[in-house]
Amino acid sequence: MRLIIRREIIRMLIELARGSKVEVCGFLFGRRDGDDWVVEEIREVPNRLNSPNAFEMEPFEMVRAIEEAEERGLEIIGIFHSHLECPPVPSKRDLEGMRLWPVPWLIVDEKGNYGAYVLEGNKIREVRIVEKE
Ligand code: ZN
Repeated sequence: MRLIIRREIIRMLIELARGSKVEVCGFLFGRRDGDDWVVEEIREVPNRLNSPNAFEMEPFEMVRAIEEAEERGLEIIGIFHSHLECPPVPSKRDLEGMRLWPVPWLIVDEKGNYGAYVLEGNKIREVRIVEKE
């Protein structure tokens, strides 16, 4: 069970995190390959909470993003967001979101750290990130 992602996309997410005073968030589009999740691209969605320590995707933009993925034959295989004031591990609040979206959650911080997690039952499991050129 791995999250396969191009290095350039990780860099892009870290830059997004660094350039924002609030948490940035959005979807990872891609496909499943056996047990793996393969990220093809990202789609940022505005954080309607405008908060440095929480996010909620703006609902209209969220639906548009889901439609875009479908139109292009891609699946929503993950969710990304940034942490500005704490390490890139799921918060209590994230845990609630992970129940609704049981896909890998990729979290980056402005220092350049990142990790991916998925909720299995009631347990958070770390997903190994494999970076490609
Ligand atoms: Zn979070």
